Amino acid sequence: MTRKPSARPHEHHALALLKLIYRHGRLCRTDLASITGYSNFLVSRVCERLLTAGSISEVGTGDSTGGRRPTLLSVTPGLGRIIGLHVGTVNARVVVTDIAGNVLTFLKAPSLVQSGPDDALPHLLALIDKALGQAGVRSGELLGIGVGISGILDRASGVTLSWPKVPTWKNVPVRAAITSAWPTLVTIEDTPRTMALAERCLGRARDASEFLYLMIGAGVGSALFFGGRPYTGSSGFAGEFGHMALRPDGPVCDCGGRGCLESYISASALVRKAREAVSNGLHSELWHLSNGDPQAISVELIAQAADAGDRFSLRLVEETGTCLGEAVVCLVNLLNPELVVIGGGVAAALGKRILPTVDRIAREHALVEMTNGLRIELSQLQEADWAIGASLLVAEGALENAFYSGARPVPTAAPGRRPRSAHRAGRKLVRST
Ligand SMILES: [Zn+2]
Repeated sequence: MTRKPSARPHEHHALALLKLIYRHGRLCRTDLASITGYSNFLVSRVCERLLTAGSISEVGTGDSTGGRRPTLLSVTPGLGRIIGLHVGTVNARVVVTDIAGNVLTFLKAPSLVQSGPDDALPHLLALIDKALGQAGVRSGELLGIGVGISGILDRASGVTLSWPKVPTWKNVPVRAAITSAWPTLVTIEDTPRTMALAERCLGRARDASEFLYLMIGAGVGSALFFGGRPYTGSSGFAGEFGHMALRPDGPVCDCGGRGCLESYISASALVRKAREAVSNGLHSELWHLSNGDPQAISVELIAQAADAGDRFSLRLVEETGTCLGEAVVCLVNLLNPELVVIGGGVAAALGKRILPTVDRIAREHALVEMTNGLRIELSQLQEADWAIGASLLVAEGALENAFYSGARPVPTAAPGRRPRSAHRAGRKLVRST
């Protein structure tokens, strides 16, 4: 909740410089003057004020351009804390970061989404509470909560309109539930976009401005980035790539359509096929690996069986690569991206096996002009990064909150699992088109 700027002298200059330093990670006063067009005198004066307030810190020196090496300035990490929450159909991941994106805590737990919102929402709030407790965040230090959620969203109101696999999530006010517990800045996006944000900041897409992120998990979705920014479409729903009708005479999908891509390549589809086959007496390595219990079969188990040379699993993986490759041909011909990143749980488990097939089909069937410079790559991000992607939704708003509230930095404990600044690399982006 940003407050209106007060009439304090140079306040808007101070906020502009603070945001610039944040977006770039580290900047010297000369660069600040050159980027903004402010005078050196004004920049020095405002920086002194920000240093005195503790909003920024001096963090070493940059390269000399002939004279003295310039002092670099960076936003003080302890200025506040941010939550990133990634809510999938099966699992939830939460991170607490400082304002610079250093991860202080990461937790993963079942999301309970399939049990319905009455069970899942209190559970997710408790998960946030647990993460805040583990990170030692005190009241007033939390500056924002970014949420990635796999349902179909009204982004403006923070309400899930539907969740194709879980009918009980119709018109669920997720943001209101969170703000009732933590009255702070809360922004909600769909998970492919928050995962793509992570990819843009930390992953394969750091240097790509025209890229597609394909999320192959329990469901299948995508995020489109044009000119380095996410494209949301006229109503905010762009990217529902999983419901591309691949086989018009195919099986009925959870969305009500027929032959959707998701019915062929999602984790749910693969696991269902494998369970049916084992239940029907298939003699397969999968039967041994699952101890004869079809319910124990997962995508990871299918990957293990494929690695062991199991013919059924190898065929399933090959079919997955073929279907995905055919869909990528359509996307590449339509959008001419420089990079396609394939991520999500299925990509993590089976990606090394499906990527060569996807790449071959794309290059054989898409227009050669589209594939000459095209890269198709697997995501290398970890699950904590997915939650960091959600935290990026609120990072800049959180910084504004800290500025207007006059927040003083709190001592920062040693960073947790990922001792690096997630936000530093990617602050160029976060506003959607
Ligand atoms: Zn569908």
